[in-house]
Amino acid sequence: MNISQEQLVQLVTREVLAQLGQQLGQGSANGTRAEPGKPTTPFGAEASAGQPSPDQIAAEGFPCNISARHGHLTPEHVEQLFGPGQRLTPFKYLYQEGQFASEQLVQIVGPRGSISNVRILGPERSKSQFEVSRTDSLTLGVTPPILQSVNHGTGAPITIVGPRGSVHLPDSLIRAKRHVHLHPDEASTLGVKDGDEVPVEIPAGDQGLVFYNVLIRTDPAFKAEMHIDTDEGNAAGVQPGAKAMLLTPRAGICRTFCR
Ligand SMILES: [Zn+2]
Repeated sequence: MNISQEQLVQLVTREVLAQLGQQLGQGSANGTRAEPGKPTTPFGAEASAGQPSPDQIAAEGFPCNISARHGHLTPEHVEQLFGPGQRLTPFKYLYQEGQFASEQLVQIVGPRGSISNVRILGPERSKSQFEVSRTDSLTLGVTPPILQSVNHGTGAPITIVGPRGSVHLPDSLIRAKRHVHLHPDEASTLGVKDGDEVPVEIPAGDQGLVFYNVLIRTDPAFKAEMHIDTDEGNAAGVQPGAKAMLLTPRAGICRTFCR
């Protein structure tokens, strides 16, 4: 049978909607609600109380967390996928202030395959965007570009399926460029600025890696934290509590090659 990519996506979407319909019919009030306290994917540490000083961060490093596959949605797309009047509801608060993993899960569908239980991060944004690893992109059969993770540039097409409908996003699938969030005071102590790309060491147990071309992002709302995708985190052996260290001369922890 010879069918176009669009027809294939529509076919898979119908099957997924049918499956979700069956799940909804099996007694769940909200077919996507996760069990409280049982996150299905790692989304970083809970917000911690005492934030270390910029000098401590320079000397001792800062948290490195895996940003598992996830999506961001506009309020309009939330309603199309989850029903009229629906909003994202917090499931777990993230390390960055005000950001949360929501209770809402969707299925993402590409020309080769689909991935279920993809979590939506809140709050809602002005542009919908989905972020996956390279392994995920092979499963889906798409080639998303590596882009900064907040609304920059044009991504690949992807279809999103929720319990109440589906949305085709023509340019919203990306692989997020690995990055470090820093408060401007932390950036200045570490000798870097917004937009810089630097090497960062993850000294994780008996694995560990140095990542090159790590984007620095600064904002007064940020606190020091590195975000990498699942492929990168697994390659480096990142576990909860993992640290990252900037390999810049002023960080004071430079190894051999940047002196
Ligand atoms: Zn981030």
